[in-house]
Amino acid sequence: MKAKQSSLAGCRILITAGPTREAIDPVRFISNRSSGKMGYAVARAAMEAKAQVCLVSGPVALESPDGVDRVNVESAKEMLQVVLDRVEDADVFIAAAAVADYVPKEVATHKIKKNDREMTLELTRAPDILATVGSLEGRPFCVGFAAETHELERFAVSKLERKNANMIAANKVGDGRAFDSDTNTLTVYWRGGSVKIMKDDKVIVAKKLIDLIADRYASYKKEYL
Ligand code: C5P
Repeated sequence: MKAKQSSLAGCRILITAGPTREAIDPVRFISNRSSGKMGYAVARAAMEAKAQVCLVSGPVALESPDGVDRVNVESAKEMLQVVLDRVEDADVFIAAAAVADYVPKEVATHKIKKNDREMTLELTRAPDILATVGSLEGRPFCVGFAAETHELERFAVSKLERKNANMIAANKVGDGRAFDSDTNTLTVYWRGGSVKIMKDDKVIVAKKLIDLIADRYASYKKEYL
């Protein structure tokens, strides 16, 4: 019997993954514990669903899934630029990157010397890539992630609205959960529904998430495209 073709077959999917690095001076940066495993597993699952995948990746120690068009970036600003350059060609945007929320206001051109007992680093908000894409006219179908230590549902649902996303995949973080781990548990929210994907290897969770995105995207296409 022939397997049912995914609604993502032939679809162009733009995915962000991994952390960003925000320079303080030529040798130091601010970053986070994201390993990129979830975003890369989503990219692999999207390839298996026969999509065309562009992966915009922060610095990670992972191999690209076969056939993926990968663009390496460091900072949130660079990630935004590459996403904006590519988004017109995307049907679906999946924002799995752990983008910095705040970045140094100024980057020192020379290595900062430790002359004083204390130093203050002034930070400013990083561009919100998902919210920026969500606000574009003719935007793709947008899927975001929400990593929260508490009140998962409330924050995820508010992110759907605030970032004008179609789906938010939420997971708890802290106590060794999700970040830099091989397993994850997700609750996926959209307007009018939610589904829990039970704890499993990120590869399996990513496959289930891609199946769910395929379902929701098929309904979206029927309604809006
Ligand atoms: O607001 P918060 O960081 O919790 O939102 C998480 C979602 O937004 C993720 O999908 C993440 O990739 C995306 N995001 C982004 N740009 C930022 C911050 C988050 O694209 N500056």
